[in-house]
Amino acid sequence: MKILVVNAGSSSLKYQLIDMEGQVVMAKGLCDRIGIPGSLIKHNALDGRSVTREIVMKDHNDAISALIKVLTHEEWGVLKSLDELNAVGHRVVHGGEKFFKSVVINDEVLETLEDCVELAPLHNPPNIMGIKACQANMPDVPQVAVFDTAFHQTMPRKAFLYPIPYEYYGKYRVRKYGFHGTSHKYVAERAAELIGKPLEQLKIITCHLGNGSSITAIEGGKSVDTSMGFTPLDGLPMGTRCGSIDPAIVTYIMNKEGLTTDRMDTILNKKSGVLAVSGVSSDFRDLDEAVDNGNERAFLALSIFAYKIKQYIGAYTCAMGGLDALVFTAGIGENNAAMRTSVCKRLDFLGIEIDESKNSIRGEEIDISTPDAKVRTLVIPTNEELAIAKETQKLLR
Ligand code: AMP
Repeated sequence: MKILVVNAGSSSLKYQLIDMEGQVVMAKGLCDRIGIPGSLIKHNALDGRSVTREIVMKDHNDAISALIKVLTHEEWGVLKSLDELNAVGHRVVHGGEKFFKSVVINDEVLETLEDCVELAPLHNPPNIMGIKACQANMPDVPQVAVFDTAFHQTMPRKAFLYPIPYEYYGKYRVRKYGFHGTSHKYVAERAAELIGKPLEQLKIITCHLGNGSSITAIEGGKSVDTSMGFTPLDGLPMGTRCGSIDPAIVTYIMNKEGLTTDRMDTILNKKSGVLAVSGVSSDFRDLDEAVDNGNERAFLALSIFAYKIKQYIGAYTCAMGGLDALVFTAGIGENNAAMRTSVCKRLDFLGIEIDESKNSIRGEEIDISTPDAKVRTLVIPTNEELAIAKETQKLLR
């Protein structure tokens, strides 16, 4: 089965073509600057053939049409014809409360997706444009939606309901949704496979630490709590996002500085997080370099990040009444050994103990705990595209 995975943003569209037999990426690439002068497609085939071409793409429809051309191109293509393509799996950010698992897309699903736009006004519209463009260009190929929020729909009410007037939940659907669900689910499943126990018997905390970061408590294979909330702004401090703060700070600063809601929104989403604390960068590689050069605020930013992760590990271990495995994934979780060390330091009382020589190994799935540690601490590279392709395959079987 050959599955095209599509991640459509407002002006870009990332894709991977995966052959599920052997789970091989046949080609991957990016349609960039959609609707902007200078739009281009970058395409890489498995065998090393690659091409970058400027093509006029005034909308997502043009992007999908360019993508089909390159996938079936004589020189650059990896498919003889579109008939070889079995399905398209779409990453969709927000499925609201309607979607608790992936779905085959039909008119009714599309309507419900439109209904979720107000919950994710920046992300869902381009996701929907990507779906419609694929439907128009490949009417005979089944389309599947895989949601960032779906995995967290198993959270109990005590975890997802905010203690604010109850009517806001009914009127505006204000509740915790959680994000990065595809990644949390994928690494939890891999963790169970690596440990060699059924997922249903395990209590796992997954730490997806990247530009956006979130932590999830997974009991018996189900998300029971997660750190992101109504929006992806909540929880851990991130590259430029503040994470959880006292909500009264928002109105206090707005009053003091005479800020509009839009301006405050920008400050909390784009000008906060480790960028704000360090005054250096939102990128953890730059922060590490700054710390090496003696920058104290960069050190403080990293310390706050590690401290908050520790707090979630403690909270979620209590929420689940124990812990079998702790998983690190995404850009920082996979690559930043020093951050993993800081997070795990003094957690031996919980059974978390890591072996520094194993912790320094990069780029592979690895158990970095000491042999006697009660909790398995694992580094598992995430693979959201493969996870989307697997979900798509499962649904169409
Ligand atoms: P992501 O959003 O998953 O791509 O993660 C982005 C973050 O991961 C950035 O803060 C990067 O600094 C960090 N990151 C990515 N690659 C590395 C690396 N090789 N070493 C350290 N940090 C990295």
